[in-house]
Amino acid sequence: MMERFDYSEDIKACIGRNREEIVRLGRELFRFPEPGFREVKSNEILTSFLFRNGIPVQNGLALTGLRADLGSGDGYHIALVADMDALLIKTGDRELAIHSCGHSVQTAVLAGVMKMLKESGLVDRLGGTVSFIAAPAEEFIDLEYRKELVREGKIRYLSGKQNLIADGVFDDIDCVISMHINGDSGTLFDVGSALAGFMVKRAVFTGQAAHSGAAPHLGRNALHGASLCMDAIAYMKDQFPKEAGLSLHPVLTSVSGGVNIIPDRAVLESYIRANTLDQLLEAGEKFDRCAIHCAKALGLECAIGDETGYMPLKQSDALNTVVLRQMKKLCGDDAIVRNVVSGASGDVGDLGYLLPTVQFGFSGVKGRIHSGDFAIADEENAYIRTAQVVLGTVCELLANPDLQVRNGDFAERKAYYLKRWLRQDSGR
Ligand SMILES: [Zn+2]
Ligand SMILES: [Zn+2]
Repeated sequence: MMERFDYSEDIKACIGRNREEIVRLGRELFRFPEPGFREVKSNEILTSFLFRNGIPVQNGLALTGLRADLGSGDGYHIALVADMDALLIKTGDRELAIHSCGHSVQTAVLAGVMKMLKESGLVDRLGGTVSFIAAPAEEFIDLEYRKELVREGKIRYLSGKQNLIADGVFDDIDCVISMHINGDSGTLFDVGSALAGFMVKRAVFTGQAAHSGAAPHLGRNALHGASLCMDAIAYMKDQFPKEAGLSLHPVLTSVSGGVNIIPDRAVLESYIRANTLDQLLEAGEKFDRCAIHCAKALGLECAIGDETGYMPLKQSDALNTVVLRQMKKLCGDDAIVRNVVSGASGDVGDLGYLLPTVQFGFSGVKGRIHSGDFAIADEENAYIRTAQVVLGTVCELLANPDLQVRNGDFAERKAYYLKRWLRQDSGR
């Protein structure tokens, strides 16, 4: 049993020494926004920051990601996980990259926390291991480029964390601590929020073209199949309770032919979102059933393609008790919102399925998230208080074995995840 000690003075001193450097690192990363699997400069900035501070870096993970470890390699193993990628925003004909989801703050803060842990010797004194994992490609965008990378064999899946999980980067981890900016300007933090999961479906209906005036009876109208399927999907939604948060809005994205031709091809696409994994998988199966049987009813063919999205995020209550305690050292209860249910998604949901995970929220944005007018307005909260919460949480967890939650069935869950969610052996 290790000797307990009060680390709060260490944290204060660390923050005092490093506050300017963390903000500077954040501003620098913000200046180099790069979309997923293209985070070359961001990787360079982070690698050289860690290297300068005597922290070895393992590079080239999921193409542009990295991992850095501190500690003995034994004992409780905490992963500090940050997203690296930026968004693409269209202005006129040009597509501009911008860090309008605040990922540059995550990488700056967690790299800063690693530096503070290293220079204070806190991990060695408390025991255990802390890994910083910078993950590429969280935003589900730019998919043609990513599919090309898959074809070239450079990645296997479309999101950064999915590749990192499949490649075993999280196999030795006990828990995940992460954070994400929120758009709430009235409070400082949110804790315990849930994210929806999603998948993408594409149903292609094919029939037979014919003259729509002279001989429609010789055709098989693919648009009728897609239209019937839209009705079936609307009725199918009734089979889910409100709490499922099922959201499904099919869009007819392409129809062949002209006004005097019976269309022989119609494509129906939809995101499916739900609050739990079971409900999401169930909705996916029911979508397939609607499409296949509506096609059959009219003598059409139907081929369904799907894109794996992200799992819903359910956070670890045990870890959030610690996070909340650390937040309360910095602000009053009224500055913290709890258990927000968000319609947004993130690949941190996949991590939350495998390991005890937190992703607390912090405020400090000016402008809207995912928009061109996004900026960090409150650097004190975004960088400094956030770093204090993470540092405090790490220390409290390492110092108190009774708080160290683990996932005993990680191996089983990972096997299910690879097979059922990433469909590793299905050849898709
Ligand atoms: Zn985002
Ligand atoms: Zn984000």
